[in-house]
Amino acid sequence: MTYSVLTGQIMHETNTFSRLPTDLDAYRARYLYYGDEVAEKLDGTRTEMGGILASAENFGWNLIHPIAANATPSGKVTAGAWSELKGAIIGAAEGQIDGVYLALHGAMVTETTDDAEGELLAELRTLLGPNIPIIATLDLHANVTDRMAASANSLIAYRTYPHIDQFERAQQAAVLLKKAMDREIAPEALVVRGPMLTGANHGRTQSGPMVDLLAQAAEYEKEPGIHVVSIQAGFVPADIEQAGPTVVVTTDGELSRAREIADALYEKIWETRHVTTNVLLTPEEAVRIIAEAGPSDKPFVVADLSDNPGGGGYGDAPGLLRAMIDAGIENATFAMLTDPEAVAAGYAAGEGAEIDLALGGKVDPSLGAPVQTRGTVLRFWDGNFVCDGPMWKGAAQSMGRSMVFRVDGIDIIVTTNRAQVTDHQTFVSCGIDPNEKSVIAVKSAHHFRAAFEPISRAVLIVDSGALVSPDFSRRTYTKLRRPIWPLDMD
Ligand SMILES: [Zn+2]
Repeated sequence: MTYSVLTGQIMHETNTFSRLPTDLDAYRARYLYYGDEVAEKLDGTRTEMGGILASAENFGWNLIHPIAANATPSGKVTAGAWSELKGAIIGAAEGQIDGVYLALHGAMVTETTDDAEGELLAELRTLLGPNIPIIATLDLHANVTDRMAASANSLIAYRTYPHIDQFERAQQAAVLLKKAMDREIAPEALVVRGPMLTGANHGRTQSGPMVDLLAQAAEYEKEPGIHVVSIQAGFVPADIEQAGPTVVVTTDGELSRAREIADALYEKIWETRHVTTNVLLTPEEAVRIIAEAGPSDKPFVVADLSDNPGGGGYGDAPGLLRAMIDAGIENATFAMLTDPEAVAAGYAAGEGAEIDLALGGKVDPSLGAPVQTRGTVLRFWDGNFVCDGPMWKGAAQSMGRSMVFRVDGIDIIVTTNRAQVTDHQTFVSCGIDPNEKSVIAVKSAHHFRAAFEPISRAVLIVDSGALVSPDFSRRTYTKLRRPIWPLDMD
């Protein structure tokens, strides 16, 4: 028999401390595809939707895909946008549905709920009843709630950070879904969390505690009745009750063993809570290292993690750019400074024009005043490119109307839309060869490493004090469960 499988993607990592609401325009700026467009745009990409489309063809499923929506992390999703996104999935959950696979983030907060994924999964469960398997993949930085685990048969997070296994996780979910629809297994998900807001070295998988945690999880998955052991590092700038690291075990009839496994892994996350593999520099310290280094045919890659749009940063924090200009850094490029006002001024002046521009510091000037610059509008750029790196390969990105603005020795990519830098095409598509630069500055916490660490002489991580700075004292949590590490204990 041909199975009818409902699928779809609704992604958002919500930084509840951001003052930028996330509306449908924010989704359109990244992607918002409906119906046939979902397959047209995402088939063949290294994304979850690419993965489920390939699996569905392999298994001969009738795949129903009403929506695929993704927005760059920002503030709470508006009530209107959430109603539209959730409504697309719920509205398609009628007629013959044999199983559900959803690509979700797991840290989405809206104006109407602190637990968007839990609400969506619970409504689907109510509509479809207890016997239709529902499986979701999640970001490794999901804040998994009790309601999410209770409403889904399985939750499967990425196992890489940078997240380069989105395709594989969707395919893993598809295999599990097939077994559940064949009535070979009847999986259920169990979640364990403790008094921690952050942990597991923020989920980094190249070194630190996650290496051992993932290896141990893979061992547990060999046991009978233990189908998936998933570790989520959590998302810190989210003022909700159930934020923080979790372990989710998908089991078939081995609930007490599943709890032992989840508890054992959580205990390891607790024991390693002080381990961090990042050395954080101030912008001034980073540019001093660069200025004092000898020549090399490879670039320094310097990343401002505190203004990472991938964690909700505004992308317009001026601290690192100011330090680079002040230090006279040569043969450098800076990506991306999101400042639609500056882009408009550049377009009004025209290509080749030399103008004064106040760059950045517009969304929240308390995080740093604009940098006063004089430079040249080197070229206009339509902001469109297709990723060709390890992350999101094949997926399109649009930065909106953009330009390259040269200030002294620095080619600054100034954009209308916000996005984290993860791909060489960010530079190549606007005429900059990253391999030819001495310094590549990016706004990103970690994802940039997949594409840029291999071409770098060294990676420098900067905290310029912007919105997603790891400095907890900058944020006041009111909904988070207490007491919690590291706010209330050592
Ligand atoms: Zn993530």
